[in-house]
Formats: sequence, C-alpha cells, structure tokens
Amino acid sequence: MELLTIGAFARAVRLSPKALRLYDELGLLTPARVDPLSGYRLYSPDQVERARLVAWLRRLGMPLARIRGVCELAPADAAAEVRAYWAQVEADTAARRSLASFLVEQLSGEDTTMTVTLRYALRTDRGLVRESNQDVGYAGDRLLAVADGFGARGEPLSSVAIDALARLDTAIPAGELLNALADAVRRAGTAVGEYLAANPADECSGTTLTALVLSGSRLGLVHVGDARVYLLRGGALFRITHDHTVVRSLIAEGRLTEEEVVSHPQRSMLVRALHGKEVEPDLALHDAVPGDRYLLCSDGLHTVVPEEELREVLRSVDEPEEATRRLVDLANAGGGPDNVVCVVADVVPG
Ligand code: MG
Repeated sequence: MELLTIGAFARAVRLSPKALRLYDELGLLTPARVDPLSGYRLYSPDQVERARLVAWLRRLGMPLARIRGVCELAPADAAAEVRAYWAQVEADTAARRSLASFLVEQLSGEDTTMTVTLRYALRTDRGLVRESNQDVGYAGDRLLAVADGFGARGEPLSSVAIDALARLDTAIPAGELLNALADAVRRAGTAVGEYLAANPADECSGTTLTALVLSGSRLGLVHVGDARVYLLRGGALFRITHDHTVVRSLIAEGRLTEEEVVSHPQRSMLVRALHGKEVEPDLALHDAVPGDRYLLCSDGLHTVVPEEELREVLRSVDEPEEATRRLVDLANAGGGPDNVVCVVADVVPG
C-alpha cells in the first residue's frame, strides 16, 4: 500500500501537519514510517479513520490522555466512553453556568435577587432490616442536609457532621456562600476525625454529608458520598449530584455500564466520605426558582425506589410532609433494606 506524505495525509483528514506532528509526539497517532534520511513522516491510508476520531474527540474538548484510551477501545466501548465523558461535561457546565450568572450579577451590580423561601419536611426511618438508624437529617429555613453514617461509629458520626453544618442555617451573603460551605464541610470533617480519635473503632467508620444552603435566590450545594439531590422542575426529575462510589467512577471511566451497576458487588463502596481524612467536597451553585422542588435522600431510598417512582410522588403529592411519608413507605415496601433519610423542599416566592 502506498504511503502518504504528511501533507497529503493532513489534507485527507482535514488536520494540519502541525497537529499530526503533535499527535505523533503524544503517542496518539504514530506514522506508519519515518524516512530515516529526511525524517519525513509517512502515513498509511488505513490510519485515516483513527486520525479523524482523534480530531473529533479534540473538537469535543476531551483531554489527550483520555483520547488515547478511547482509541484503544472497541467501537461499542468507545461509544460508552464518549457518552460518559459528555454526561460529565454537561453536569459540570450546568454548575458553572449558575456560578457565572452569579458572578455577572455581582460584578455588574445588578440586584436581581428575588426573595424566596423554602417549604420543607424531613423524615428518617430505620427501615425493616437494620438494628439501628444511622441516617440523620436537618431541615431549616436556610439549610437542608442529610448524612448517612457507616461502620461501628456510624450512628454518632452522622449527627456529628450534621451538627457541625447546622450553623449554616443563618443569613449568609451570596458572595460568601461557597466559601462558607467549604469551611463548614471542613469543620464537619475535623469534628468526625476528632470523634474517631477519641473513640477508635476496628471497622472503618464515617459518614456521607450532602446539603443545600439558601442565600437570596441561590442555593449552595455541598456533597460528599452517595446521598443524592434531585430537582423536580417542570415535571421532570434531574439528579444534580454525582455519587462518590467505586461503581460511579468505573462508569465515568467507561469500564462499567448502568445495567451492570445493579448487581455489582461494590455498588455501595464509597470513594469519598467524611472518615477522619482530608476530603474534597463537590461544591456548586444553583438558582432557587419558585416552583422548583428538591429531594435530598440517602441511598436507602434511591437504591430501592426507581427514579420514575420518586418522580411520580414528587410530582403528585403537594405537601412536603406527605411526600416524605410516601417516599419512606415506598422504601419499606421495597424491603426496607437500609436506613432512610429524606428531605423534600419547595422553593416558594418569599
Ligand atoms: Mg445507607
């Protein structure tokens, strides 16, 4: 087969020779042959498809190291990997959009802040199998939080974390919201570490922590672990947190599919939690829009009750109190294998 010069190959794949040289240096696309005398790179027509794939993935903004991984996969696996990458990009973009609009308001001195308030209810339940309830929640005018303790010290630790967060239930200027959240989760982590130092356990113990804090018409979100926050808007249900679990990491890397998660032996194993060591929480800003309804819940609800059923309850039951009761009933009707904590909160005009 006749080899193409770098110029001819570049024209065929609509990339510049400079880009091809870069891909060669990065190991993404090695020329079929390099002329030993002139040093010219020569490409095989067989390489056109791979070069095009690399170019498209670059256009998507995928990092080079990840592109290298995709190029090694069979087409179906490569498709799953691109899908996982894009889902992550969209979630990150949504959070950054809220942050950007907040900054625009701050910098331009526009005060578009509309006063909103929350109408909320909290419910927690031991479930039908566990001997104790290690799930704890908090619901106040400005703070909504859930924590799911695990291990021998799980029961006090979830309360320790929530108590450390409770001082956020006060007026916080919107400009300080994210810093206040970061500080609060650091305090919660320190409190958990101190409790574990004073009360050591053989078994790894800790807690998840997920919270929303209202400031003006913004909701700050802080999240560590596998509790979830859902947003019901216009009748559709959106999950606005990422689970910090081993299986979610594998899905994000394209090594596991959604269908395989249900039966995965490590499906509840956490990669991030408050357990006495340094932890990086997810932080985000969301607009608090009147008519929106939020659900915060531990895995005892969201792994037992399908999202479609969660949506149906959230859509059809008006009172938050009644909605939390119905959700807990659904978890117990599904066997109640774990503790449950859930908070339902409506954003209403102030
Ligand atoms: Mg749990």
